[in-house]
Amino acid sequence: VVELGMPTRSVLTTCAYCGVGCSFKAELRGDELVRMVPHKDGGANEGHSCVKGRFAFGYATHPDRVYKPMVREKITDEWREVEWDTAITYVAEKMREVQARHGVGAIGGITSSRCTNEEVYVVQKMVRAAFGNNNVDTCARVCHSPTGYGLKQTFGTSAGTQDFRSVARSDVIVVIGANPTDGHPVFASRMKRRLREGAKLVVIDPRRIDLVRSPHVEAAHHLQLAPGTNVAVVNAMAHVVVTEGLVDQSFVDERCEDFDGWAEFIARPENSPEAVEGITGVPAAELRAAARLYATGGNAAIYYGLGVTEHSQGSTMVMGMANLAMATGNIGREGVGVNPLRGQNNVQGSCDMGSFPHELSGYRHVSDDAVREVFETLWDRPLMAEPGLRIPNMFDAAIDGTFRALFVQGEDIAQSDPNTKHVTAALEALDLLVVQDLFVNETAKFAHVFLPGTSFLEKDGTFTNAERRINRVRPVMAPKTGKHEWEIVCEIAQAMDYPMSYARTSEIMDEIAAVTPTFAGVSFEKLDKLGSVQWPCNDKAPEGTPIMHVDGFVRGKGRFVPTTFVPTEERSTRKFPLILTTGRILSQYNVGAQTRRTKNVAWHPEDLLEIHPHDAEVRGITDGDEVSLASRVGETKLRAVLSDRMPVGVVYTTFHHPVTGANVVTTENSDWATNCPEYKVTAVQVALRTAV
Ligand code: SF4
Repeated sequence: VVELGMPTRSVLTTCAYCGVGCSFKAELRGDELVRMVPHKDGGANEGHSCVKGRFAFGYATHPDRVYKPMVREKITDEWREVEWDTAITYVAEKMREVQARHGVGAIGGITSSRCTNEEVYVVQKMVRAAFGNNNVDTCARVCHSPTGYGLKQTFGTSAGTQDFRSVARSDVIVVIGANPTDGHPVFASRMKRRLREGAKLVVIDPRRIDLVRSPHVEAAHHLQLAPGTNVAVVNAMAHVVVTEGLVDQSFVDERCEDFDGWAEFIARPENSPEAVEGITGVPAAELRAAARLYATGGNAAIYYGLGVTEHSQGSTMVMGMANLAMATGNIGREGVGVNPLRGQNNVQGSCDMGSFPHELSGYRHVSDDAVREVFETLWDRPLMAEPGLRIPNMFDAAIDGTFRALFVQGEDIAQSDPNTKHVTAALEALDLLVVQDLFVNETAKFAHVFLPGTSFLEKDGTFTNAERRINRVRPVMAPKTGKHEWEIVCEIAQAMDYPMSYARTSEIMDEIAAVTPTFAGVSFEKLDKLGSVQWPCNDKAPEGTPIMHVDGFVRGKGRFVPTTFVPTEERSTRKFPLILTTGRILSQYNVGAQTRRTKNVAWHPEDLLEIHPHDAEVRGITDGDEVSLASRVGETKLRAVLSDRMPVGVVYTTFHHPVTGANVVTTENSDWATNCPEYKVTAVQVALRTAV
């Protein structure tokens, strides 16, 4: 501020990092962004912020940004700058050419959870209406797709149950497979405030995250389970509830169905804490105590992250947590619930907008004739009733030669998706890869067309945070590329002979509201008036819905689903004796495309491998040594840091830097229901580099 002078104007907008969705005033002097000031009336943050939202906006004007479209025939050619019209015509003609040669289903698109609802909506519309197929998927595939599946099966809708404020009424907080102080810092502060007031904490995580023991906060129980055994732990907790008479029977009788069959399943001896102790590594007595606390300690809330979803049984675990909450009556009021902590700013929104190959906006299946008719009437195109390809299916089909062209909106799949070698082989096999992004990222290295995108400071639209709160994203500056991202997508659709245009972004939200019952009452006008609203927002709830399933579940009755524990196929072996699990740190964000291009980079310039001192000693590794990390699919190198946060036999790293590329070693294993990758369990070997 001192250097740039005092700001002369401000624009109220939303942070573009995590799923907390903090509101900020972007303060400018002329066209220069001077500072980001957390907004005291922000529904999600109430005046608070973390280091990323407040200070890590420099990437928006970083010299690496690309402002002109670029085209090249082959990925070995040099990029050629072209005008927008040329790039758009090139994409449209190539897409049509591929379809003429290989069929309507040979092309598709991927939407981004970093983009606005409106930008995502137009991409899925382009795929369904202009491409004429359902080959659209979202990067939520690799993070919270099991949340979508599991919560829909049990509660009837694919979203968290509570607003963030509700945590102030929790007596017991259970954090499973999440690291809120690093991943969701502003919500973590709310949580810690409640814990300091006396709420009890249970952490279920292989790693001793900061919350387990920090100033004035100490977990009552840390269930330090073996990676891949979540379902065994949640089943054992439910076993204690059922066999010790801790079920909230009146809640279950009035509000739920299929309880008896589930209760018979969960009461079986193989689900007892004693039976699973050898599998999970969690002492039975500790697990019993945690289950009793959850069931009898008052309002009990579950918050969870990717340590739940990114497993071969991610969807099963989501249903297991829902079972536990229903059995104890911890749903439908303040202070309770089952709540995903969403990683990206708009992962909830990108799912809501119909980015999945099997669902139109509002989570309605493409095979539903009545739903399809609504869209067909408005869009004036017949739509396919069969689900399209998921992201991993697109990769497999590209390698097989049946899928030939892909549009990628703001996602660096070459760095973020598992088994890098497989992903890059698929990208290399494509006839046409179109990347819309800020920077020439790892994925763009395989692209034929690069369409420069806009940063959040140039966007006009909405993001939806982890508590279903729709926040306005207001433009702080005009698009530096000369076009909004949604305009580019509309122009590609038009060039493919599908008329698609909007005079302004609010018209896209009006269309979303017209076809999506949970958004029926949402408009820019309302958002400007109320600040934000949480969906469902419609005639029944004109000002939104902070807490869901209050009088009844969205599906009518909450459904209990038996959740049999099936061990992952990924096992440690003589050759790969350690288990790798991955996560993130406070100052970096996902693949680091943004945070590495801010001053944050100086704080954590590389990914590190956390290894237990015992595992390090037997390998002759000391703090700071360069080590190789290898799995059956690939090998990378990084520096070791000795840490007893992980148990013996488990190592941990982050995936923020392309050079170290943790996803070089993660495998093709995935969740049985959604194909969400099993990032959290990879058998690896670690060796001192000089000894390799
Ligand atoms: Fe942004 Fe999340 Fe930090 Fe809030 S907590 S400022 S949304 S990164």
